[in-house]
Amino acid sequence: TDFGFRQVNDKEKPSMVKAVFDSVAQKYDIMNDLMSLGIHRVWKQIFIQELHPTPNLTLLDLAGGTGDISFGWLNRGGGTVFLTDVNYSMLHVGQERALDRGYVDNIHLFCVDGEKICLPDRSVDRVTISFGLRNCTHKNQVLEEARRVLKPGGRFLCLEFSKLIIPFLRPLYDAWSFQALPRIGQIIAKDRDSYQYLAESIRTFPDQETLKSLMEQAGLERVTYQNLSGGIAAIHSGWRI
Ligand code: SAM
Repeated sequence: TDFGFRQVNDKEKPSMVKAVFDSVAQKYDIMNDLMSLGIHRVWKQIFIQELHPTPNLTLLDLAGGTGDISFGWLNRGGGTVFLTDVNYSMLHVGQERALDRGYVDNIHLFCVDGEKICLPDRSVDRVTISFGLRNCTHKNQVLEEARRVLKPGGRFLCLEFSKLIIPFLRPLYDAWSFQALPRIGQIIAKDRDSYQYLAESIRTFPDQETLKSLMEQAGLERVTYQNLSGGIAAIHSGWRI
């Protein structure tokens, strides 16, 4: 089905994604709560638990946006975190939130493109990307870069929308994402197109097994995943051995 939204090609995607997140940045956090009915908080909690934060570990949070994963990491006792994103508008909100929460010492904010990470090889212990990979144009490049900057023994974790594994929920889920979401986007954020893009990007993102093999192709090892809420989202894990 064509949902009335043109497929963006690779050349247009980065500027389109930039426009989307420039537009939604200020309302990003509240919209997340509305659109996921608060469930993204639970998923992120599980994701952070899975990271096992400890003070001696450093984390590179790619596409970190307004900082949920970085703050969760620090809150649970993780070491130095690099909160990074390609988009200044999103990072700016992240910076304000960090200051509000009193996170200053262990957090560094940088503008970083996940496809070309400005860090040396083997420099961090953990790399995360939460709801970011589907917005990147060359996912293989992001995965290769994540592996490159990991120290041997380091771990990569991805939280992303995935493929529903409970068939009878499908009609409900489609109605929610393709009809309700753009409408909520229009009413609350006055921006239907951005939320339509988000729904569309979820639909076209690789499923659990496909992402697993993309990670393996990028050289990550012992790749596993766990479904969240019947596969609406999934956590993928891989190691640099
Ligand atoms: N990680 C945060 C979270 O879980 O709430 C924010 C996720 S937000 C849906 C997606 C983010 O991906 C946006 O902030 C966007 O700017 C960022 N992004 C898109 N393409 C990127 C790229 N090539 N490199 C780094 N970040 C990127």
